[in-house]
Amino acid sequence: MHELSITQSIVAICEENAGGLAVKSVTLEIGKLSAVMPDAVRFCFDVCSAGTVVEGARLSIIETPGRAVCEACGAEFAIAAFFGKCECGSRSLRIVSGEEMKVRELEV
Ligand SMILES: [Zn+2]
Repeated sequence: MHELSITQSIVAICEENAGGLAVKSVTLEIGKLSAVMPDAVRFCFDVCSAGTVVEGARLSIIETPGRAVCEACGAEFAIAAFFGKCECGSRSLRIVSGEEMKVRELEV
């Protein structure tokens, strides 16, 4: 379950940025192509934040959809997986969003 280590680093980032103050809410951005399960992160968040300034903070997760640009014709479209095919037939795609996993907002 790699979400545990991911959540540990999220809590660590929040602690660093909170400057010792109690954190009220945390907003995360998780790309749908990042292979991180939001539910698992929610579950781990309580465990990882216990005893830190992040304990009790409200957790919001924004899931960003996957998008790719076709290298052949330049079309941009939504994708659900890393491997896809453009309408023009090309399989040469560049992922432009959906891989991110970051702390978007922190309220103290
Ligand atoms: Zn194309």
